[in-house]
Parts: sequence; structure tokens; C-alpha cells
Amino acid sequence: MISQLPLTLCVDLYGCPNRCTHCWLGHMPNRDMGPEADAWIVSQFKPYFDRITFYSWLREPDFCADYRGRWERDKALSTGAPPERFELASFWRLVRDPDYVNFLKELGVPAVQLTFFGTEQTTDRCVGRRGSFRELLQATDILLEHEISPRWQLFLTEENRQEALELLHLSQSLELSSRCEAFGGRFRFFVHGGSCDGENRKRYSSMIQKGHIPELLIPYWLNYEQLHSEAEYCALWQGESSHVVPHNHKEIVIYVSNRFDLYYNFTHMRPEWRIGNLQTDPIEELVRRIVEEDTPALRAAREITLGELTERYGSASSARLFEAEDYKQFLLNQHLERMGNDAHN
Ligand code: SF4
Repeated sequence: MISQLPLTLCVDLYGCPNRCTHCWLGHMPNRDMGPEADAWIVSQFKPYFDRITFYSWLREPDFCADYRGRWERDKALSTGAPPERFELASFWRLVRDPDYVNFLKELGVPAVQLTFFGTEQTTDRCVGRRGSFRELLQATDILLEHEISPRWQLFLTEENRQEALELLHLSQSLELSSRCEAFGGRFRFFVHGGSCDGENRKRYSSMIQKGHIPELLIPYWLNYEQLHSEAEYCALWQGESSHVVPHNHKEIVIYVSNRFDLYYNFTHMRPEWRIGNLQTDPIEELVRRIVEEDTPALRAAREITLGELTERYGSASSARLFEAEDYKQFLLNQHLERMGNDAHN
């Protein structure tokens, strides 16, 4: 069986220097997968997919000393479309390796996203490394010096509303827009609440509430008008008979953990979403589960309606704001977790 869909493999070969409180993937220790892991993983899937795109990272890009060689190897391992950059880079490396920005420049990277959580103390705490905030500012300068546009994103919560405004003012006082325009680039500042997967689930209680977003920040929240509170979704989806079943349309994206566990890219990498293990499960069976979307999580998703999810797990008195798809996923994850807990009790 050769799948008609192309396969993208994102492998956690090197890990991540950060431990962000908003990490939607969930925290995992960094672990060496061994020198042959990349080729071996691709060889497992090759008989079933004639178009494979290989990424050696799923957390921090370029968190590998030989990032140039690594980029070439990722391209060489790919049998389908070559890997892309997605305007992502490592700010950790940007401030430690003077040649790294030249590499980004050579690849034609036009912009790089940098994530803040507030001002200095909050950002350092939420990235999980002291000095992160200053590194982000230093990375901004390095990018500008090399005519690459920085893009600042901030996760907005009940706790950092004031700091978010301070960060916006900081970007203005640093004249980031005009410095980008000077070389034909574009500075972007944007805020959002983040999904409620992975580590971010733990921050549910501090999620921003309707009416609490500072007026000045509203223009910086993309699709703000499409946001609703939990209470509004509970009313909107009462009796709704559709199901929340994530699905691969044009390609299949698989995350490979550093313990060779496989996951879809639908939500966090928690046990209930695990497809199987590449080292211990037969590859034919893994590919069948992947292509047929036949996993316990997806089977459970098909058996409960959105109306039932909302009734069981929604909070009809909550003003916390969500994007619709994020809230659906949040409800489904609560259900899967509850099922897992019940099974263990
Ligand atoms: S959000 Fe990104 S940078 Fe932060 S811990 Fe997760 S993978 Fe690393």
C-alpha cells in the first residue's frame, strides 16, 4: 500500500533549550536519539509513502551545532517537497553564534518570530531561562542589522495585561516598524491567548477574559471578532450533533518523539494521543493506524458529539476567551483525559 498523501515527519532529534509555560507540545526532556536515527526513521516509512518531507526538529529549530549540515541532511532525506523554514529560528542560537544569522540570510528567511510573555521578569520565568527577555531584544537587533524582520508575538493572559501594553510601547520606542521599513521589511506585533493544549492547560485559570483585553491591544489580536467566551460557546453548541474529529486533508504530519513514539500534529503529545512506537510496534500496523486515522483518541472523538462535550466539560459561567477550534480541542482533550483516568481507576 502506497499512501496517496505526502508524509511530513518532524523528529525531536535535538530537543529545545526552553521550557515555556505555554508550550502546546508539552515539556519533554532533551535526549540523544543516536546518529542513525534520522535515516532509520525515514527508511521505515519509505515503502508506504513516496513523498516524505523530513524535519530534524519539532521543538527548537537549529538547536544543533552543525545546523548547516543538518539543513542539507534534512533536504537529502526528503523524498517529497523539501523542508521549509516557516519564519522560525532559534533566538537561543542567534545570540550565541554570530554566523547563524548569515545562515538565515543565505536561506532567504524574510522574518523571524520571537515570543514574549510580558516584560523581563515574566518572560524569563515563562520561557524557563533567566536572561531570555534580554536575548529576545538582542536577537531583534541582530535580525534588524541583517535586514530580517523580527515579529513579536505575545501570549496574553489575565496576569500580563499591563506588561503586554508595556511591551507594545517598548516596540514603538525602539522604532522597530521604521527600522524594518528602511530595508523594505515589516515589523509585526501580535497578541493571542494561545491554545489550551500541553503545558498551557495548566494556565487555564489565568486565561484572558472577555472584556479584559486592553483596548489598545485589540487591533493586534488577529481575528479578534471571531473570539467567544466559554459561556457563549456553551450556549452556541447546545445540542450540536457534529463531532470534533481532527483529520488530515492534504498531507499527513507525524511527530516523532525522542523515544520514537508517534503522534499526529493535531494537539499535544500526551499518552492518549500516542499512535504507537516505531521501535516496538510493527510498521505495517503503525502506517495502517496513521492512514486510517484509527487510534483510541480518534475513535473516542467519533463517539461523542460537540453538544455532549460542551454539556459535560464546558463552563457555562466562564468569560475566558477561546478561538472556536481551540475550545473544541480543549473539550475533547478533557474528555480523553477523563476516559483515561476512569480506565485506570
Ligand atoms: S514553546 Fe517552543 S521554544 Fe517553548 S518549550 Fe515549547 S518547543 Fe521549546
